[in-house]
This record gives sequence, structure tokens and C-alpha cells, in this order.
Amino acid sequence: MAKKGKWRSRMLGERPLSPETLMMGYGYDPFLSECSLKPPVFRTSTFVFRSAQDGKEFFELAYGLRQKRPNEEPGLIYSRINNPDLEMLEDRLAIWDAAEASLVFASGMAAISTTLWATVRPGDVLLHSDPVYGGTDFLLKRVLPQFGVTSVGFSAEGGAAALTEAAARAAAAGPVAAIYVEIPANPTNGLVDMAELRRIADGLGRTGRRPTVIADNTMLGPLFQTPLAHGADLVVTSLTKYVGGHSDLIAGSCSGGRELLEPIRGMRTILGTMCGPETGWLLMRSLETLKLRMTAAADNARRVAEFLRGHRQVTSVLYLGFLPADHPDRPVFERQCTGAGSTFAFEVRGGEAEAFAVLDRLKVIKLAVSLGGTESLASHPAAMTHSDVAPEEKQRLGISPALIRLSVGIENAEDLIADLDQALSILG
Ligand SMILES: *Cc1c(COP(=O)(O)O)cnc(C)c1O
Repeated sequence: MAKKGKWRSRMLGERPLSPETLMMGYGYDPFLSECSLKPPVFRTSTFVFRSAQDGKEFFELAYGLRQKRPNEEPGLIYSRINNPDLEMLEDRLAIWDAAEASLVFASGMAAISTTLWATVRPGDVLLHSDPVYGGTDFLLKRVLPQFGVTSVGFSAEGGAAALTEAAARAAAAGPVAAIYVEIPANPTNGLVDMAELRRIADGLGRTGRRPTVIADNTMLGPLFQTPLAHGADLVVTSLTKYVGGHSDLIAGSCSGGRELLEPIRGMRTILGTMCGPETGWLLMRSLETLKLRMTAAADNARRVAEFLRGHRQVTSVLYLGFLPADHPDRPVFERQCTGAGSTFAFEVRGGEAEAFAVLDRLKVIKLAVSLGGTESLASHPAAMTHSDVAPEEKQRLGISPALIRLSVGIENAEDLIADLDQALSILG
């Protein structure tokens, strides 16, 4: 790794370098690692101190016993606290998230839960968008209440009215410590206006502590959406999905302002939710192709969505790129997103039986949950990822029995279309 100098420059003279360029080596000094072009996997649990005094100073900083001196960098102590692969990865993720800093975790859920443990206290209330990822939903509705933290949800499809109404209910229930949103909502692709959300957070802050605005950016990030630029304080991401991108690892991140991340970093050290160096190394490899992969998948998704929109057995396609001009989410999409991504859902004519028949006939597209990999996956949200959502809630959120979710990969688009075409032909 490199703490300073040319390996940490983001400029070429006057020219700011693009994230995709910086991903090839930012933060790594080959001459500290036997001239190896690529960073090694620092497979070590602990680090050797040059002197006892060094060890003392590293611990003082790690435990927050004193302020950092100008230009002082935290020393390496132990891989639960830090590791060179993870430090390089964090520096690179911060570039994509347009953040001061970034922290990596053993999973998306490790990132989300550690962030919330560092943010809420007994008696606090959480305001959140609905639906949220199943694991997050369980944490908010079943785990946090056991520790005296309650939550109030608002429909991502409900616009400003639903948000304002839920914010008032949350404020009446107790101090609102955090506002947590997942944008776009999965699988329905509902958006939340971040400017409006920030106004609500600032409004709540006038009478008490301003709630921390946290956005889960797994679905479009970091390429097509940068919530920190639109009013979020923290952005959490399941790196398992697009950032890892090859369906071969589990990891997560939290990015934001350095100061806001400090208590989260401390909580990570104590909960031990750090990811390992091997995973960190794989993620650095993935970041080199992030833009290529996400752009190719998004191009494929548009072509697949267009094919589905024209198919007689498909009744709706919930693809962000098809938001009509008069839809309230359209201006939000144009302000906040730079692309429609490659995960979306569509409904077939009929119900669960028809959706299952199509899923079972797919040959190229695999039947699996998860998303954001190089390969295309299809799943049935109502019976799989959202199976424990109550029936009336499913109906309200638009998770119908005829709904199929697709995560479009980087295969040949015509092959994917041919596969969907032959599978849909079972419906006549
Ligand atoms: C997958 C996912 C998570 C959880 O991430 P893991 O890496 O599986 O722990 C959180 N949020 C969203 C939107 C996800 O898709």
C-alpha cells in the first residue's frame, strides 16, 4: 500500500483522473511489495511493530485516546482493525461513492447492521422506506425492537405525501435517529426523492438531533447513483452484488464523511464484522471492470426490457428506463440516477402457475436469487425473496404472483432474448 506520494494522486497535472482509471492501482506502491504489479494478498492476522513506541502510538490512535497528528497515518496492528488490502479497497470504494472515506465489511448485512448499531440507542425511532431487503427488514422489525428501537415505514411508491405522513408518526413515537432508504426499491423500482428526504431530516433536526440519512445503494451503485451527492450522510452497499460482480463472494461497505464513519469503524472492530484480505483482494480485481460490467449489463437490460414490453404474454415491465414522462418518479430518476441499471421485474399474463412455468423453462438464465453478477438470474419475489411479507402488504407494494425479477448479466443480449422468448412460448 502507499500512504502518500504519486500512488495516491488523483490528478494528472491539472486533469482529474476518472474512477475507472484510478481502479488500476490507486493507493498501492509496487516498490513496497517486491515490485509486484498487483498488490499481494496480505494474509496475516497481525503486524510487526518497528518499536514498542510505534506500537504504543498505533494503539493510542486506534482506541481514540488522542487526536491524529498532522500527516500521521494509523499504523497496522491486527487484521480485525485493519489490513493493507482492505485499506486500498476502502480508498478505491470512496472514490466511486464520492465519499471522504469508506469501510468494508464481511457482508452487506454486516455493513448495514454495524452502521445501525453505531447509530441508534434504546428509545430511538427509525424511519425507513418500504419494501427493504429481507435481511434489513428482519433487522428493523424483529431484532432492533428487542433493544428498544422501533421503526416506521413509508411506501417507496407513495411519494412526498407518504414520506411526510410517516415522518410525523415517527417523530411522535420518539427521537428519530436515522432515516434509512433503499433506492430503487426491490423488486418494484420505486424511488425516493433525496432532496425531499433531506428537508424532512433537517426539519426533524430543528427540534432535536438531526437524523442520519442512510441510503442502501446496492441496486444502482456506485455507477448509476451517488446518494451522498443528493443529501445522504452515509451510503451502504452490498458488495456481493454489482461491485463483486461475479457471484463468488460476500461483502459490504459503508461510505460517508470521515467523522461520521469513526463510531462505525469502532463498532466494526468490536463486533468483528470486518471482511478478510482474500475477499478484499477479489473486490479490487472486480473494481477494475466495474464500469465495463455495469455498462454492458445495463445495455443488455434495456434490450431485454424492450423485448418483454412488446411480448403478448407480458402485462407490465417495471424498468426504470420506461418511467413515463408524467410519472412522479420521472424527475427524481432524472435528478438522481445516471442509468436504469440491470435489475428489474416484469409480470406475465396469469399468476404464480404461469410465472413458475416460465421460470422452469429458462435455459440460459439461471433460476436463483441475488443479482448483479456477470450471469443473468431470474427469481420469483412473492414466493422467494419476499415470501415472509404479509399477503396484503405484498399487494400494497405491488409484489404480485405473476411478477418475475430479472438480474440481467453480460451475456449476448440476443441469446437472453431468445431464452425468454422460448420460455414465454409455454404461455401460448
Ligand atoms: C443483497 C442485499 C443486501 C444484503 O447484502 P449481503 O451481502 O447479502 O449481506 C442488502 N441490501 C440489498 C438491496 C441487497 O440486495
